[in-house]
Amino acid sequence: MSSAALRGDALIHRMNELIRDVPDFPSPGIGFKDITPLLADAEAFAGMVAEIAGRVDGPVDLVAGTEARGFILAAPVAMALGAGFVPVRKHGKLPGPTAAEEYSLEYGTATVEVHPFTVPRGARVLIVDDVLATGGTAGATIRLFERCGAEVVGLSFLVELAFLPGREVLAGHRVDSLIAVA
Ligand code: AMP
Repeated sequence: MSSAALRGDALIHRMNELIRDVPDFPSPGIGFKDITPLLADAEAFAGMVAEIAGRVDGPVDLVAGTEARGFILAAPVAMALGAGFVPVRKHGKLPGPTAAEEYSLEYGTATVEVHPFTVPRGARVLIVDDVLATGGTAGATIRLFERCGAEVVGLSFLVELAFLPGREVLAGHRVDSLIAVA
């Protein structure tokens, strides 16, 4: 069964309907954005991938997706752009050798890793994830690719939590989000 991709305002409207707000998940006080109903809607999923890819300015060699939901979005965006895909994984998941970058969480730290031999020096990298919150994950991912000698040409998100400072944390980079939540 095939279906057309949604576009423009109809796409954004449908995405807003399909993204589920789950209060207090995974911990009290967090309003979790559940994108699984959006992924299950063929028209919205295809439209979202086309929209992210269509907003990209200039050539991209690699699309990086952040574990785990970033993988789901970044891989089809990479195919739409004719680019390769690089998974950005949590510590200990890649067999290595890895390049790693640590960042701060509210309590403790986390680490993102890539296989640097999949990132040629000078590669133009687009970073894709589902939600931009504090910008900690995306900031560490930028540093990771820059340390590999790549150029981060932009960051694309489905949802930006605009009441958090993610965009300021990523200042100096092209940040695009399909939906901003005030
Ligand atoms: P941050 O590093 O604070 O910008 O958080 C971004 C990462 O955490 C992304 O990989 C998101 O998938 C996830 N995340 C943060 N906040 C939320 C939220 N409210 N709903 C869903 N995912 C979130």
